[in-house]
Amino acid sequence: MSNRRNVLANRCIGLLALGMLVFLFGAGAATGQQSVVRDPAEPTGGKPKAKVIVRPAGAVARTTVDEKSMRTLIHELVGCGTRLTISSWTDPKRGVGCGRDLVVARFNEIAKDSGGELQVMVDKFESTSERTSGKPVPLENVYAILPGSDPKLAKTIFIVSGHMDSRASDPMNPELDAPGADDDASGVAVSVECARMLSKKPTNRATILFAAVSGEEQGLLGSYHLLDWIKQQGYTVGGMLDDDIVGADTAAGGPHRVRLFSGNGEIDDADSPSRELARAVEEIDGRAAIRLVFRVDRYGRGGDHYPFYKVGLPGVRFTEPLEDYNHQHQTPRTENGIEYGDFEKYLNFTFMGNVARDNAEALRQLAMAPAPPSKAKLTGAVTPDAKVSWAADEDEGRAGFEILWRETSEARWQVYEFVESPGETVLKSVSTDNHFFAVRSVGKNGARSIAVPTEIERRPPPLPTQPKQ
Ligand SMILES: [Zn+2]
Repeated sequence: MSNRRNVLANRCIGLLALGMLVFLFGAGAATGQQSVVRDPAEPTGGKPKAKVIVRPAGAVARTTVDEKSMRTLIHELVGCGTRLTISSWTDPKRGVGCGRDLVVARFNEIAKDSGGELQVMVDKFESTSERTSGKPVPLENVYAILPGSDPKLAKTIFIVSGHMDSRASDPMNPELDAPGADDDASGVAVSVECARMLSKKPTNRATILFAAVSGEEQGLLGSYHLLDWIKQQGYTVGGMLDDDIVGADTAAGGPHRVRLFSGNGEIDDADSPSRELARAVEEIDGRAAIRLVFRVDRYGRGGDHYPFYKVGLPGVRFTEPLEDYNHQHQTPRTENGIEYGDFEKYLNFTFMGNVARDNAEALRQLAMAPAPPSKAKLTGAVTPDAKVSWAADEDEGRAGFEILWRETSEARWQVYEFVESPGETVLKSVSTDNHFFAVRSVGKNGARSIAVPTEIERRPPPLPTQPKQ
């Protein structure tokens, strides 16, 4: 090898090594790997070892989901021809009234088996929107209520809801068929199946409402009314799980995770009650089951969790992993060899059964939990220690509270410390600035409330004053 060639070879090796370095560091940044952590320890002496209370035993087993009953209910709902909200409420064979009858009948069967625990009711009301031609039309929601065992917590309500109405391409024409197998007989079947699974041997301290609402396709009318009804009854909303289009999972390699949508809210730091509910559901059901999506809904779409979310209540939406728009909101037909329509044959009951199980387990644990703390605050800015304080009513069933924190760039909470009583806790040598903080209640039974992020006092830095003109 000549000298010149040697120099060239060395240069090449040098460049290669540089490339490798760039590649390694670049890859580290892209995948979020912390190859070199060069932050000071916080707190200085290391994080306190928090007491861990194990989550409640007796999880809803996947094998207990009755897929056959879900399939039967959906088949019967599809058999109503259309369930458009402005179709007939009185014809037992065709229209939304036919759908209502089926849901009421199924809830009543479940109520009978529950030994009188579950209370079934039909809520009749009127509502108006563009899609009722601006005229008030009659609507009905069906509710099955499983009262909470704790006198105080029974005024807190957790809701699971699907919408029984369906639509064709034209949302104003009841003559068109609208099978609505996926949108949203699937969500109704999930809500109803949750009622069956949770009313057998109820463990809920708070109340659970299993809903099948109408009017979704006409402008979320049933859900807006449900929110009013809940307020009239004097309930506090603990959480609202909307199941809408949860029946199909056609991509290869399934069953896949269900998507869980939650909005940012209108406060700083993206810690809306809806987001906290979504995090709680993921923690209960696991990351292998839930795909968190940090947006209020799919682009340009809406759903029944929205009225709850919009007023700052915890409301989230479950939706299948990958939607097929040929099978939603379409009048059944074949065009250019493409079949349109929301038919049963596209459903996947293995996937749907998973969704039912995950909803039921989330409801079970949330409704066993103590009430979330209130007035959570973070103080201690410009001092060496962060101070977290909160309030909570007396609760015999509560073991204490978990103080949570997370890096501001992380999606999920971690437990910082366990504390038995409300009031103020000083987080020694923890900065107020490098993490977000929250608090949640923990039951003696191991059930956790949703997290309540700490509010901070906003202190804007001094700004230049405008010179007088
Ligand atoms: Zn829908």
